[in-house]
Amino acid sequence: MPSLTRDEARQRAQLITVDRMEVDLDLDRGAEHFGSTTRITFSCNEPGAATFLDLRPVSCERIELNGTPIDPATITDGRLPLADLRAENTVEVVATMAYSHDGQGLHRSHDPADGEDYVYGHLFLDAAPTVFACFDQPDLKAPYSVTVRAPETWVVVGNGRATRADDNLWRLSETLPLATYFVTVCAGPYVSLHDSHDGIELGIHARRSLQGELERHAPQMFEVTKQSFDHFHSTFDVRYPFGDYDQVFVPEFNAGAMENPGCVTFRDQMLFRGAATREQVLQRSNTISHEMAHMWFGDLVTMRWWDDLWLNESFAEFMAYTATSTATEFTDSWVEFGIARKQWGYAAERAPSTHPVAGSPAPDAHSALENFDGISYAKGASVLRQLVAHVGKDAFDAGVTAYLRSHAHGNGELAEFLAAMEQASGRDLGDWSRAWLETAGVDVLAVDRDGTLTRTTPSQYPADRVHTLDVAGFTDGAQVFRTDVVLEGPSAQVGLDAAAAVVVPNAGDLTWAQVDLDETTRGNLARELPMIEDPVARGVLWGAVLTGTYRGTVDPRFALDVAAEAWAGESDDALLSRVALALTDRIVPTFLAEGEVTPARARLAEAAAGVLDRVEPGSARALVAARVLAATTTDETVLRGWLDGRDLPVGLDGDTDFRWLVVHALARLGLADDALIEAAEASDRTLTGRLGGLTARAARPGTPDKEWAWRELTTNRDRSNYELNALATGFWSSGSVETLRPYAARYVDDIPHLAQWVGADALDRVAALAFPSRVVEPETVELVRAAMARPDVTAGVRRSMGDELSKLEEALASRARWA
Ligand SMILES: [Zn+2]
Repeated sequence: MPSLTRDEARQRAQLITVDRMEVDLDLDRGAEHFGSTTRITFSCNEPGAATFLDLRPVSCERIELNGTPIDPATITDGRLPLADLRAENTVEVVATMAYSHDGQGLHRSHDPADGEDYVYGHLFLDAAPTVFACFDQPDLKAPYSVTVRAPETWVVVGNGRATRADDNLWRLSETLPLATYFVTVCAGPYVSLHDSHDGIELGIHARRSLQGELERHAPQMFEVTKQSFDHFHSTFDVRYPFGDYDQVFVPEFNAGAMENPGCVTFRDQMLFRGAATREQVLQRSNTISHEMAHMWFGDLVTMRWWDDLWLNESFAEFMAYTATSTATEFTDSWVEFGIARKQWGYAAERAPSTHPVAGSPAPDAHSALENFDGISYAKGASVLRQLVAHVGKDAFDAGVTAYLRSHAHGNGELAEFLAAMEQASGRDLGDWSRAWLETAGVDVLAVDRDGTLTRTTPSQYPADRVHTLDVAGFTDGAQVFRTDVVLEGPSAQVGLDAAAAVVVPNAGDLTWAQVDLDETTRGNLARELPMIEDPVARGVLWGAVLTGTYRGTVDPRFALDVAAEAWAGESDDALLSRVALALTDRIVPTFLAEGEVTPARARLAEAAAGVLDRVEPGSARALVAARVLAATTTDETVLRGWLDGRDLPVGLDGDTDFRWLVVHALARLGLADDALIEAAEASDRTLTGRLGGLTARAARPGTPDKEWAWRELTTNRDRSNYELNALATGFWSSGSVETLRPYAARYVDDIPHLAQWVGADALDRVAALAFPSRVVEPETVELVRAAMARPDVTAGVRRSMGDELSKLEEALASRARWA
C-alpha cells in the first residue's frame, strides 16, 4: 500500500478544505467486520479539479460524489479518485471494514478472563482509512459527528460525549476540528469511574475483568489528571478545549498511550495487577501528563506534516516532566527522565539512523513512523530544557502561549514556533535552532582536575552547540562545589575543588551530552555513589558508566564492579531498576564473553539479595530487588519455593505478575515442564496469562522449544501483536550461543516476510525484539547488513534492524577492546 507523500498532502491541502465529517459505525455485525458509512462535506477552490479519497475497505456497497454513483472498483491501493469537483461537495461511502488484531485501525480483542470482546480505534499514523473514508493527512482537520451501533451490553466512548440514543445506538456530540489520526471510538462492556475537575468531566475506563485494578488505581490517576490540568492551564494560559476528558485502558496497545482529544487510550498493563514500584507509578503519571500536554501540542495545534513531529512529541515529553516535577508528588521525575529517557535518546543518537530533532525528512507518512524515537522524545525534551535555560522561563512560557493562540484548531511548523519564541524573548534564535534542532549529534563533555571543561563534537555532525550546565563535586557524599557554566566553544575554565572525590560534569543534567568521568572520579565512584544525596547527580554518574560502557570507553567489568558494590546503597528505585535492567538485559549478556555471563549474573543476584536484606520489606526498592533476584538467580530451591508461595518477599504473596517472572526464570534455566507452565496458565486465565505462557515456552533453552517458538513467531498468522512480542522476548532470553546462532540467518530471512500480515507499527517492534542480539559475532553484522540492502525489507524493519545492529556493533567493539 503506497504511503501518502508530503508533496501529495501539500497539493491536496491547497486544493480542498474539509468542512465536516459524519461517520456511522456499525459494530454489531460479528467479530470480523463492521459497517462504516461516511459523509464528507468539503470545498474545492478549483472547481473541475480532481483529488482522491483514502479508504481501505473489505468491500464497498455504495459511493456517491455529489449524488452521482462512483464504481467502487476504481479504488486502487487504498485511493478512490474523485474527479470534476465542485466548489462545494459531498461524498458518501457505505463500506464494510475489517477489525484489526495488530493494534492499528479498529482493533478487536477477546478477553479470555470472561469471554467479552473489546474494540478501540487507534488511527495513528495512517490507519484512519481502514475505519472510515477520509482525506488522511494531519492538516485537513474537520469537526466529526459520529454514531456507533453496538451490542446492547456495550458502552461507547469517543472524542465527543457519547449518549445512548436507543438500546443499540450511540450518538457522539460533534467535535471541534480534529485531524484524522486522532479520531477514536472505544466500545465494549468497559467499566467506568467518573469524577470532575474545574468544569471538566473526567472518566477512566477499563475492561470488566480489570475492574478491581481500575478501582484501586483510579484515585491516583484522577489526582494526577487534575494536577496536570491545573498546571497546564496556568502555564499555557489557554483552556483545555475538547470537552470531557476520558482515559480508556485498552488491550494489546502498541504504544504507551495515544492522545486522541477527549478520549486518550492507554495500554492496560498500566493498571498494575500486582505490586508496583514508585517508578512504575511515576511513569504512568508521566504518561497521563504527556497525553494531556498533547491536547495543546498536537491536538489544538497540529504539526502541518510529520516532519515536524517534534512539535508534538518533544513538547509533550518536556511538558509532562515539567508538570510531574512541579505539580505532583513526583518532584524528582527528572531523575527518571535522565536514566530512562535520555539513555534511550543517547542510544538513538549513537546509531547511524540519528537525525535532527526538527525538520527531519518525512517524505511520506510511513517514513515518519521511524522518527518516533529517542531523538524526537528525549533529545527534543532536553533541547527544550536548554531553550528555557537559554531564553529564561518567562519568555519561553510567553512564546508558547502566543504560538498556541495564533494556531489554535489549525496547524503549525518549526518556523512559526521559532518566530513566536524570538518575539517573546527578543533574541535571534537562528544559530541556536541550527545547532540544537536542525543538526543531529551529541557532544561529549569532560572536566579535568585543572578545571578545564571540554566539549568533543562528533565529526559526522559538527555544530557549535552552546551548553548551559553546571559542574559539581562531592567528597564523602557532601557537595563541595557547584558551578554554573555557559560553554561557548570547545572548552571553558570551571572553578572547582580539585580535591573533590568525584567531579560530575552536567551535574544538574540540564544539557544533552554524554559525559566522561575523570580517572580519580572513576576510582572513587563505587564508594561515593551511595553517599551522594542528590539523586540527579547520582543519575548522571550512573548514566556515565552505562553510556561509557556502550561507547567502549569503560570496561563492562568496571560497570559490573560499580553496580555490585554501589547498587545496594542506591536509594532511588528508578536508578536501581534502570541500572539493573541495563546490566541484566544488555551489558552482561552481550558485552561479556559467554563464559563470563553466569558468574556475572551470580554477582547481580548476590547484590539483589543484599538489597532485599537491608531495605524495608515491602518497599519499592525491595520490590525492584526481588524482581532482579528472580531474573538472575540460578537457585532452583528459591524459585520453586516462590512458585509454591513459600518465603516470598513481603507484598508479593498472590502477585500473579511476580509469579510469571518466577515461571520465566525457571523456564530459562530449563526447569519448567509443560505441567508447570500449564498450571501457571490455569491460575491466570487472562490476556496477560496467555502471554506469560507463550513467553515461558519460548524461554526454554532447548533446541525443540526454540524451533517451536520461532515457527510460531514467523509463520502463525493468527498471532496478535502482543503474542509476537511475547514469543520474541522469550526466545532471546535463554539458550547457548550455539543453539541460537542459526536464528541470526533465520531472522533476516523470516522477519521481513511478516510485513505481509503484520502492520508496520507492530512489526517494527517485533523486528527489534526478535533481533539476534545474543549472537555477538561479525557474521551477524554481515547478515544484517546484507538484509538491510534488500528491496523487500520495509523501511520500518530496516530501521529496527539498523538500530539493533548499532547496539550489537557496540558490544563487538567493546569485546575487541576489553577482552
Ligand atoms: Zn506523545
